Amino acid sequence: MNNSRQSSCNDPFEEGAITVEQAVSAILAKTKPITEFEKLHIRDAQQRVLHDAILSPMDVPAHNNTAMDGYAVASRDLPEQGSKLFRLAGRAFAGSPFDGECGSDECIRVMTGAVMPNGTDSVVIQEQVKVIDSYHVEIGDGHRKDQNVRFIGEDIRKGLDVFSQGHRVSAADLGVLASLGINECEVVRRPRVSFFSTGDELRSLGEALNQGEIYDSNRYSLHGLLSDCGVDFFDMGVVRDDPRVLKQALLTASRSTDLVLTSGGVSVGEADYIKDILQEIGQMDFWKILMKPGRPLTCGKIGDSLFFGLPGNPVAVMVTFYQFVLPCLIKLSGQAYQPPLGFTALCQSKIRKNPGRREFQRAVASNNSEGQLQVELTGKQGSGILTSMSRANCFIVLDEERGPVQPGDAVRVEFFENYLPR
Ligand code: AMP
Ligand code: MG
Repeated sequence: MNNSRQSSCNDPFEEGAITVEQAVSAILAKTKPITEFEKLHIRDAQQRVLHDAILSPMDVPAHNNTAMDGYAVASRDLPEQGSKLFRLAGRAFAGSPFDGECGSDECIRVMTGAVMPNGTDSVVIQEQVKVIDSYHVEIGDGHRKDQNVRFIGEDIRKGLDVFSQGHRVSAADLGVLASLGINECEVVRRPRVSFFSTGDELRSLGEALNQGEIYDSNRYSLHGLLSDCGVDFFDMGVVRDDPRVLKQALLTASRSTDLVLTSGGVSVGEADYIKDILQEIGQMDFWKILMKPGRPLTCGKIGDSLFFGLPGNPVAVMVTFYQFVLPCLIKLSGQAYQPPLGFTALCQSKIRKNPGRREFQRAVASNNSEGQLQVELTGKQGSGILTSMSRANCFIVLDEERGPVQPGDAVRVEFFENYLPR
């Protein structure tokens, strides 16, 4: 048998390499959710993760009420055929109920949200009645019991688990909490992340570049990514390729944060010290991952803090952040990790690929004139070409087994948006 996976394993370069899924599972296994929590007004709880389940203290709606403007009646009085005259016995508005009893062949004028008057069970909308005079309306046939009524507890039943522990609060959830009269909730403390760049060639913004030096861009992409994640983060700047300084920076970072990220210095180059230091001060795994870009990744622990040594190449940093750091951050934050939603799109580009590794090609997805999802590469895909990422809105994800892609082929697309904690 000569299948593609076998040929990739025969490649000595891939020996001992693991798949993206295996790496994600290993990362999740190392990650312990934060248990500390704080109490917040619901207004400040959006995007935060609930520390406890929320049980409904009441029924929503709290009473049967009319869904439409019209006339409330007892359905047994409605005509089966032809039409019938009803006497208007009162009125009810949202917030001002009718406190009498609706008698037989009587109706009550009701406006949307009004409590259903005693003695009524159905509402005939105002467009379907004929007003005879100030005291009488005529109602025809074709109506049914319970029509146009919103029932007590039909949205949320008292005592029900409205949100479970680990639920991330959305805008709609704020409305649901408010409708239950809940003004505060307990949420998990935000993850704290510190990060720095390594490399003697790196200069910070505002500094002049000497021959061979480059501006540190990874710290800024990471700043942007972390801003999108609802975490507290600390930019520790550039750290020189000096083992003593690196070790000190790693120890400092790990003492104050849940997660430490570095970029650069994890390949097998001479100045790549991070691995050695990690082995000395913590525990670490160094993985070759069957992926492109971003193959080498270091993941470990320093004290109670998790550590990721991301690659140095700017695109690889972002790809590995999406694929590995985000699942970890999501679990840290108290939420269960779910892989991102994927979509099938028609690829408009020709893509060269050999079976063996999973590739994350940067692309722009859009709708074509028939409303179908189509996707196109953002030009050159080198792992140093950061504009391939900034022009993109998604990855084309080509699985390990996949070979080349021709224009018109179906491919899997994962939008950057859908990786973020939501
Ligand atoms: P390294 O993994 O340290 O060997 O870096 C791989 C490549 O990424 C080299 O070309 C580095 O100059 C580049 N690189 C590393 N760190 C950064 C950074 N923070 N910003 C931009 N490029 C970087
Ligand atoms: Mg370096």
